[in-house]
Amino acid sequence: MSENLSTGHFHPEDAPGYESILQCMRCGFCLAVCPTYALTNRERSSPRGRAALARAVADGKLEFTKAVGEEAFFCLDCKACSTACPSGVRVGTIMEFCRSQEQHFHPPSLPAGLLRDFILKRMLPSPALMENSLLPARLYQRIGLQWVVRNLGVNRLFPGLLAKMEGILPTLGTPLRLEIPEVIPAQGAKRGRVAFFLGCAMSLVFPEVSRQTARILAQQGFDVVTPKEVKCCGAPHLAEGDRETARQLARINLDLFNGLDVDAIVTDCAGCGCALKEYEEILEGRATHAELTRFRSKVRDISEFLAGAGIRAEGLRPVPMSVTYHEPCHLVHGQGLAKPPREVIRSIPGVELREMKESNWCCGMAGSFALKELETSRRLLERKLGNVRATEADALVTANPGCHLQLAWGVRELGLKQPVLHVVELMGRALPS
Ligand code: SF4
Ligand code: SF4
Repeated sequence: MSENLSTGHFHPEDAPGYESILQCMRCGFCLAVCPTYALTNRERSSPRGRAALARAVADGKLEFTKAVGEEAFFCLDCKACSTACPSGVRVGTIMEFCRSQEQHFHPPSLPAGLLRDFILKRMLPSPALMENSLLPARLYQRIGLQWVVRNLGVNRLFPGLLAKMEGILPTLGTPLRLEIPEVIPAQGAKRGRVAFFLGCAMSLVFPEVSRQTARILAQQGFDVVTPKEVKCCGAPHLAEGDRETARQLARINLDLFNGLDVDAIVTDCAGCGCALKEYEEILEGRATHAELTRFRSKVRDISEFLAGAGIRAEGLRPVPMSVTYHEPCHLVHGQGLAKPPREVIRSIPGVELREMKESNWCCGMAGSFALKELETSRRLLERKLGNVRATEADALVTANPGCHLQLAWGVRELGLKQPVLHVVELMGRALPS
């Protein structure tokens, strides 16, 4: 998105590329797949409407008003429109740039700005700070306060946002970064050597998922190298309009992983994978073509990697259960990966995959959207869980920590029976102990 032939009323720094906006020919093929359009029936909340808003600002016909900024944040950045668009318009990405513009034109109040800066520029770039930030939540769970709050219905007295924040919190274990060995040797006949990109959300909130990822890679015959100096991938920064910090983090990760002698860089987080695959764009002009190509050629989602390498089936035990699969937006739309997770699921002996309707429809998490737009997020979640319920599957499988949090919360809220599992947690059940 660097083709800034004209920035019009956009601030020149981090403006969406003019050519990318011009590509929209207003055909409307994207309308049927846009969740915010489906909910509002409002043109400006559709991909076509958002592209038109961006074009009006770029053409100097519209100031970057608060309404434009609000629309940028009301977009889920689910990228479903990119999959549907015959012209290759990436409205979600255009809206990410508009979120950066919002910081220029309508910066937050001083306290909100300080909090935002602390989270994006201090906390997220520091794995140790991130780990420490969850200490109060772990204490809240360890001393049994969470049990009291939930089982005595105290959480029903909380206002909406607080109730959701409390409700969405899973049981927290020890952060995996502190425990995972730097190198886990391959088991059996060695097939290669991979780097594991330890995502902050996954390894902090769902350490068992990342533990299973490393275990599966080793069981499948790969040495697993996990660099502990890894930084946040930058996805939260792109989503919140802080592209400069995203660039700084990307540069560190690029150097770190390019310095390793590995065949692939594997992630188990769809959001991280999507951001890592965008480093070529994010770091344009800040890294050489050779550096960017070397990095990009190696990044793989775990399902993509396993399906591509071929799953070694010997030794896998049957897991007799039916599952349905929710496709994370950042996997199916952001990376175009619909088949590999299904291939992994189907490779597990005994597992029956029952497809749900609208499996690639956003669950309503979408980063901070689930906390800012409580009602809209809830309506999306209820639609999703209605489709899950209809499958009558034993478990709900997904591949992204944000989706996992939202779906697990919804399952508890609506009293569904299905546990929520990551693809690798399901596969981990088939591995010999
Ligand atoms: S974004 Fe793409 S699909 Fe939507 S109206 Fe524009 S060209 Fe058509
Ligand atoms: S990214 Fe998703 S919410 Fe945003 S315009 Fe596209 S389809 Fe709609």
